[in-house]
Amino acid sequence: MKDTFKHKGMRNKLADTVARKGIKNEDVLNAIRKIPRHLFMDSSFEDHAYVDKAFPIAAEQTISQPYTVAFQTELLQIKKNDKVLEIGTGSGYQTAVLLELGARVYSIERQKELFKKTSLFLPKLGYRAKKLIFGDGYKGLEEEAPFDSIIVTAGAPFVPKPLMAQLKIGGRLVIPVGTSSQTMTLYIRKSEKEFEKREFGSFRFVPLLEDKK
Ligand code: SAH
Repeated sequence: MKDTFKHKGMRNKLADTVARKGIKNEDVLNAIRKIPRHLFMDSSFEDHAYVDKAFPIAAEQTISQPYTVAFQTELLQIKKNDKVLEIGTGSGYQTAVLLELGARVYSIERQKELFKKTSLFLPKLGYRAKKLIFGDGYKGLEEEAPFDSIIVTAGAPFVPKPLMAQLKIGGRLVIPVGTSSQTMTLYIRKSEKEFEKREFGSFRFVPLLEDKK
């Protein structure tokens, strides 16, 4: 695994691109400058790592577009030591961004192949999530709830109730909702029963799939 000055230069440019598209949070931009995205992809696709695009990884899934990762992360307003749940570990790139921001991360992936691969890979780069889980994100992670924030990185046909229930009061859920394309949606839990909902334009994700059973 190699990370060179050339890669670092390309990452700086990528962060500039993402900033030009409207991302302001410097901690998020610094995470993009730092994380060797090319190592999260198959080595033959290295050239694609630092363009602002999603790209196929194993099991017919994708590593999200850097702008999208940055956009979702910015909406979470992560503070150091926040307890964060991610649904859709995938390549682990978004996980790494959350860890760079100082979050304590729990992440769920339903594709065994990706779960195994990413569980081995992240620690090699020094990224230690609190827990990587092979399971169904629709259920959230009851035993570790409540969370300061929850991020869903696949397109959800509807907002799973357990995710709302597992948010702290004041906590934030960022979830792309829709089937053919998704509306980026932020829910802020105002009280036990009340949620503020905000919508942020259209994105495209691979689908959040129901349990395999
Ligand atoms: N955060 C990832 C994005 C991967 S794409 C990255 O940066 O690379 C979305 C991921 O969600 C895929 O890996 C897919 O397998 C996973 N996924 C889909 N449905 C799921 C579910 N019900 N529970 C957990 N993960 C799911």
